[in-house]
Amino acid sequence: MSANSLIDPFGRQVTYVRMSVTDRCDFRCVYCMSEEMTFLPREQVLTLEEMALIGKAFSELGVNKIRLTGGEPLVRKNVLHLVRDLGALPGITNLAMTTNGSQLPKLGAELQKAGLKSVNISLDTLDSEQFTQLTRTGKLSNVLAGIEAARDAGFPNIKLNAVIMKGRNDDQVVPLVNFARERGLDITFIEEMPLGNIDEHHRGETLCTSEEVRDLVCQQHELVASTENSGGPSRYYHFADHPSRVGFISPHSHNFCGDCNRVRVTSEGRLLLCLGNEHSVDLRAVVRRYPGDIERLKATLHEAMTRKPERHYFSAEGEVDIVRFMNMTGG
Ligand code: SAM
Ligand code: SF4
Repeated sequence: MSANSLIDPFGRQVTYVRMSVTDRCDFRCVYCMSEEMTFLPREQVLTLEEMALIGKAFSELGVNKIRLTGGEPLVRKNVLHLVRDLGALPGITNLAMTTNGSQLPKLGAELQKAGLKSVNISLDTLDSEQFTQLTRTGKLSNVLAGIEAARDAGFPNIKLNAVIMKGRNDDQVVPLVNFARERGLDITFIEEMPLGNIDEHHRGETLCTSEEVRDLVCQQHELVASTENSGGPSRYYHFADHPSRVGFISPHSHNFCGDCNRVRVTSEGRLLLCLGNEHSVDLRAVVRRYPGDIERLKATLHEAMTRKPERHYFSAEGEVDIVRFMNMTGG
């Protein structure tokens, strides 16, 4: 194994890290959290400085893309400091964030100035009542204002993410696609994953596969398959008549493990080697025992690569394979 890169036993090089900066959130989306959540005590969550050091160690090992996520990354106090620190790392060419958009009216412009290159904004419906049902505590108008704030800030890459559930928001597929097209944005549809025990619905009944979503889009628009690879798990289609793209993340119907280039770090500093497996390494123990020792951290990351599993298995029946909630994992 090269000293300056992270290569797993299956020959895959890790170049992309998703970091959860908090497990907390101002929303309680029905597919992601239960209504009553217990969040981690603050001392268990990595400090922003610890996260910055971990990001630097990754960047020195060939990682060029970091996505900040959560929970809701923008509810973490002073998250702009972390964006600035990671944005200043020479090896990180794509610093990205996934957000529910609620804080973007306030923070969009500053994030862009701090070095954030791209934002994914989650939007599952354009119907305000449905929005409040799905997010429990969210307000559609805030998120729409957040999308406009991101556009005004001039981010070169803004993408929408939508989780579609049968009987809940599958009527929104075409409106969401049209909303994205009108604004020149890309949109990705994500199949609901069985992460975390939720009680609000039975996932086996609401699973809407990428194929079903694609059929809904095709009722109104012609899609052309693309061979492009965004460096993430999406498979992309172009419209025949428009530059926006439609992506599909299909952990159920299309296994995307073969070319996996990603690992995740939870807000408590667990390095997760696969979204759908429990294999993990405790980075918090290393950064707290040896503060500032980046070489030790790099050695730990190297060693961890030997444990990256080949693939994940999700059951189509929606049974929970992984007890972690998505907000713990970092979506
Ligand atoms: N709070 C931010 C947001 O909602 O964009 C970032 C974190 S969220 C966990 C990241 C992405 O994961 C969102 O697009 C969300 O819709 C998606 N997500 C959450 N739970 C999911 C699940 N069980 N299956 C599939 N996607 C999920
Ligand atoms: Fe919060 Fe994002 Fe999970 Fe919704 S999907 S509850 S916005 S972390």
